[in-house]
Amino acid sequence: MTPCTLVELFEQHPSPDLAAFIDGVEGLASYTYGQAWSLAAQCAGVFCELGVSPGDRVAVQVSKSSEALIVYLACLRAGAVLVPLNPGATAAELEYLLADAEPALVIADPSLPAARAGLPLLTLDAEGGGSLLARAFDQPAIAPAFLPTPDTAASMVYTSGTTGRPKGAVVTHRNLTANALTLARSWGFVATDRLLHMLPVFHVHGLFVATNCTIAGGGSMVFVPRFEVNAALELVPRCTVMMGVPTFYTRLLADDRFDVRTCASARLIISGSAPLLAATHREFEARTGHTILERYGMSETSMLTSNPLHGERKPGTVGPALPGVSVRVVSNATGERLGVGEIGDIEVAGDNVFSGYWKRPELNATEFTADGFFRTGDVGVFDSDGYLSIVGREKDLIISGGLNVYPKEIEEAIDALPGVAASAVIGVPDADFGEAVVAVIVALPDEEIDSDAIRDSLRLVLAAYKVPKRIHVVADLPTNAMGKVEKARLRATYS
Ligand code: AMP
Repeated sequence: MTPCTLVELFEQHPSPDLAAFIDGVEGLASYTYGQAWSLAAQCAGVFCELGVSPGDRVAVQVSKSSEALIVYLACLRAGAVLVPLNPGATAAELEYLLADAEPALVIADPSLPAARAGLPLLTLDAEGGGSLLARAFDQPAIAPAFLPTPDTAASMVYTSGTTGRPKGAVVTHRNLTANALTLARSWGFVATDRLLHMLPVFHVHGLFVATNCTIAGGGSMVFVPRFEVNAALELVPRCTVMMGVPTFYTRLLADDRFDVRTCASARLIISGSAPLLAATHREFEARTGHTILERYGMSETSMLTSNPLHGERKPGTVGPALPGVSVRVVSNATGERLGVGEIGDIEVAGDNVFSGYWKRPELNATEFTADGFFRTGDVGVFDSDGYLSIVGREKDLIISGGLNVYPKEIEEAIDALPGVAASAVIGVPDADFGEAVVAVIVALPDEEIDSDAIRDSLRLVLAAYKVPKRIHVVADLPTNAMGKVEKARLRATYS
């Protein structure tokens, strides 16, 4: 029977004795599927003892560990709504998040601010120590008698908040299960797969995409607390699949030891969460013989499009819509559906799309269309083969002198110039043009950036209104935990 909830997905796993989480480096515990599922039942028992009822939020601010994922499974078994929180969130950020989420229980690493929030608390440290597991071991390995339906909320994910205040996206069992099955099929996940898991587990990429897809395929995860080049060089050869953000791949390519031998046993290398430069895609292929598979999705919708497992993976694109997902590009002005080659707003629908934002009726009224599509806020364009390219975020669009400027086009032109390591293009208020195009550039090591020379080179390939009025050279671009450039911060700095 096709699973419709994450509980069914887990319970239908064929091999309880197969390793679910394998310790990739010394320090993280390994669990079989059977062990993980029964420890999750014991943790769920502790939640019930503390008065957590189905539908209650459980906020989790912990370091990455195998047990952090068992907390996710425990929430599923108790019917609680998992609210994953970034371990890097400050006390002030947490105050807002916890007031908004109104959790019945907090699970926190004792060293992190959520442990001091003054709410009902269980502790879980990076080694699995703390009151959660100490209490769980006294519980019977029988989950509370709660069975979710496909519409039961499984998690509430605060969206990355690169602009505006974070909002909780409520995702259901149907959303996550449908996406897990689609991804496992589309990416060919099988029981013999070993996924190298170096992503954080407070974000959908590491928490749901990597994990649920592996569970749906029946394979194992090799668990590492964070991305680190030496660990990756040691572990990629022992895995069949690697999932990461573009920074993982640029850092590996910067190391001469990373080559065709490192990837000899890999069958699939996946990138997402931030744009993968076409240049990185090509360099990776030249170095390893592997073509990175780039996909696109967001916290609210899980995964939306993917380059194919079999077939052409086009650099600079995020591939066609996944099976069961409707993706359309519409005019910002009229809402009409646009054709091939026309840039517009990306709207999506499908079982994967979340049920709405928590306590934000005004946003739920504006962010969904009358025919049930969710407005992603991303701007994109389809090519004649149905492959989507992301042009940028709608909020990042620059309107200079009444003309639309898409930052990605300018960033690509700058990145192609000699001496440039990375760039970000933003719009800042300008008395004359409304907004002025500004570029923030990072130089390659030992290279000097001459702003006038950059502008001269850009004039040869870009219309005058797209050429940055100002160029700032910086040591690093501000990025969030998923490697996304924080344009709101750049705008605040350079406005
Ligand atoms: P998050 O909710 O933190 O996962 O962020 C989702 C956003 O990341 C999307 O709306 C896109 O703007 C961006 N994103 C995700 N994957 C890609 C990709 N492959 N290329 C470009 N942008 C991406």
